[in-house]
Amino acid sequence: MSDRPRLIHVNVNQPSLQAVRGEGIYLYDADGNRYLDGCSGALVANLGHGAGEIARAMAVQSETLPYVFRVHFSSPPAEALAERYCSLTRNPMGAVLFANSGSEAVEAAVKLARTRHLSAGETERHKIISRWQSYHGITAGALAWSGIAGRRKDFLPYFKESPHIPPAYCYRCWFGKRPDACELQCARALETAILTEGPETVSAFIAEPVVGSALAAAAAPAGYFQLIREICDRYGVLFIADEVMTGAGRTGGSFFASDHFPGEPHIIAFGKGVGAGYYPLAGALVRPEIIDAISAGSGLYSASQSHSAHPVGMAAGMAVLDYMEAHRLLQHAREMGIHLGNRLDELRSHALVGDVRGMGLMWGLELVRDKESREPFPADRNLYMDFYECARGKGMVLLPSSGCNRGKNGDMALIAPPLIITRPQVDELVDALHGALADLAGRLCA
Ligand code: PMP
Repeated sequence: MSDRPRLIHVNVNQPSLQAVRGEGIYLYDADGNRYLDGCSGALVANLGHGAGEIARAMAVQSETLPYVFRVHFSSPPAEALAERYCSLTRNPMGAVLFANSGSEAVEAAVKLARTRHLSAGETERHKIISRWQSYHGITAGALAWSGIAGRRKDFLPYFKESPHIPPAYCYRCWFGKRPDACELQCARALETAILTEGPETVSAFIAEPVVGSALAAAAAPAGYFQLIREICDRYGVLFIADEVMTGAGRTGGSFFASDHFPGEPHIIAFGKGVGAGYYPLAGALVRPEIIDAISAGSGLYSASQSHSAHPVGMAAGMAVLDYMEAHRLLQHAREMGIHLGNRLDELRSHALVGDVRGMGLMWGLELVRDKESREPFPADRNLYMDFYECARGKGMVLLPSSGCNRGKNGDMALIAPPLIITRPQVDELVDALHGALADLAGRLCA
């Protein structure tokens, strides 16, 4: 027998560091080393680690009614959470379907869109238009709709190809435009794609309001989503916002990022922060007109999963909302986000930092070889992993990624601490980043 770990790690030959305990925004390994969780895991642990309220609510539900199958029974926490979620948006949503991961939430959103079209007799509508340099999940459907070359490439044979349009990415605009004079060509590309595909065959357009790991917190230019929604309406196409990463207060001030802009989605996929790491809770919210159309058709949505609306997950979701309300986390995330943004601005003067972008508590750094020309480092330099290691050396975890330069190269990091972070902790985080960048520059000179 080899002494390889039995657990499959990111690298099967190299076990990941083991965390044994979490408290607030910090994680601890077996040797007692402390790490500031600068990215809430995968932007999941929004309430930090070790919030006893959530654990207790789950334990109570687990003893009362741990599980029912959606086909047989609903449950009081499922009905209550559905009611509450529908009122989290600017305009109330009509209904919600629960799933167990962001990837499944995206697939559920797509299936709900298709069900709406079938109910309305628009049986040809099935195509999903998405954007390059996006991430919608790891299951075959969600990965096919994603536009992140590095994660897609090994699994291309499993995909039914579907159309992708250029991203809304002002730092490296695919149209060579400046945001103040671009006429939103990246949004207009949707109309071209719909017309090319044949509008009667297109079901939905899916996009992240602020792009996560594929573009490190790149937000669309003003007016983008409004135009997207207008184009969708013109052709009977549904707009799905993938808020798996941006939801649950991540962008500060509102529960969902789409509520920051005009251009309301028909369907919102959510996950990650809604369960805050205590339960893998996810799902899709639909606007009233979508559920009305399904109701007027067969009324059936039978694409069930074993753990949909799991009562313990529902109790966790409810406890997360209670916690967020009790601690005014939407407001707090907005305030801490302003402070974090101001402090991150300092990093712009660093030779390796090409761009600093984001909103609320979701920020991204893009590293470049040349600030003037925005030339990235070569892909095989894997600078993003070096940066991750330098940050860890300073006692902090961030989320590294690469490929922002059309999937070829380009190093990034997401900075997205738990929403409970305090002002001194924001300062501690940014100080660690200063140190990590200095160490990275040192490595490059060595
Ligand atoms: N959509 C977005 C925007 C995401 O960021 C992610 C996860 N990073 C997913 C979907 C997939 O979520 P999960 O990993 O929970 O399946």
